[in-house]
Amino acid sequence: MQQQTNIRTQDEAAAAPRLNVVAGGAGFIGSHLCRALLDRGEAVLCLDNLQTARPSNLRALEGRAGFLFVQHDISQPLPAAVTGAAGIARVWNLACAASPPLYQRDPEHTMLTNVVGTNHLLRLAEGAGARFLLTSTSEVYGDPEHHPQAEDYRGNVSCTGPRACYDEGKRAAEALTFDYARAGRAEVRVARIFNTYGPNMDPADGRVVSNLICQALRGEALTIYGDGSQTRSFCFVSDMVAGLMALMEADFDGMEPVNLGNPVEMTVRELLGHVQALTGTGAAVEQRPLPVDDPRRRRPDITRAGALLGWAPRVPLAEGLAATCAWFADELGALPHKTGT
Ligand code: UDP
Repeated sequence: MQQQTNIRTQDEAAAAPRLNVVAGGAGFIGSHLCRALLDRGEAVLCLDNLQTARPSNLRALEGRAGFLFVQHDISQPLPAAVTGAAGIARVWNLACAASPPLYQRDPEHTMLTNVVGTNHLLRLAEGAGARFLLTSTSEVYGDPEHHPQAEDYRGNVSCTGPRACYDEGKRAAEALTFDYARAGRAEVRVARIFNTYGPNMDPADGRVVSNLICQALRGEALTIYGDGSQTRSFCFVSDMVAGLMALMEADFDGMEPVNLGNPVEMTVRELLGHVQALTGTGAAVEQRPLPVDDPRRRRPDITRAGALLGWAPRVPLAEGLAATCAWFADELGALPHKTGT
């Protein structure tokens, strides 16, 4: 198997930069993380089943020194190309479809990816003596009764609804991760990621940022689900990756999850206004039914991230949206967008 020929021996590993296994490394956030780790001079073994990843995310990484790709679905036992790799220092789990329409397409697979897949990666970390980071989600707070959401809020999640495969899957993944840590089997970190946007998003992902920007660039109707009064807080991807890297290296026992997100909250209607101003679109707005169990509001309390990591997002929405819009314009071959607001 071609990948196995690239795996390092113990001797080579001792002299080599430290190795990161990044599950979901060809995805939206994962591809930015792989690039940042390579930029820091580290090696990356990227695992991805390419279910929701964009091939061009991968192509941009494949030429880089120290980068190795193994196509694999983490819900299945890890291949020897991964378990046999020497010198694994960090294991990152970013592998799961995160967009509601996509993770609901095969809910059994979503649940198993989060629970069985996380277990496979935890075992890998345990065997290698590596530190493990789980990317959990603000979805563990469900439709929150507490606002903003701090990590000690236990959430309001439906375990029977269509989002449960993801929300409850991530909650179970957190439980499993902390169980490994409590038993001294692995050093762990758990990030709860709030809505994130930026280049490398899939235009067909179905998220509100990608949908609105792509619709505006294509001159299509802009879709708003419900009346658009629900809120979200959007974090630019470079800030998210900086937070994840800080968390992985943070000097604490790892026994508590850490929210990562941008606390600037807005309604979906307000986001629509920003996209309209940025793109100059005059397209109609089309109201569609609010999806089942769609949270009414969401804003991270990032006090813990600030205290533990000295981290806070830096990129303002206007700047992040402009960069995202320019990237989508390029990606779609659309006409350059209007940059002024
Ligand atoms: N949404 C919308 N129009 C779209 C896609 C999504 O109004 O074209 C809404 C969606 O119902 C939700 C919010 O925007 O209230 C954020 O949706 P997204 O899927 O981006 O993230 P999540 O629901 O996982 O926070």
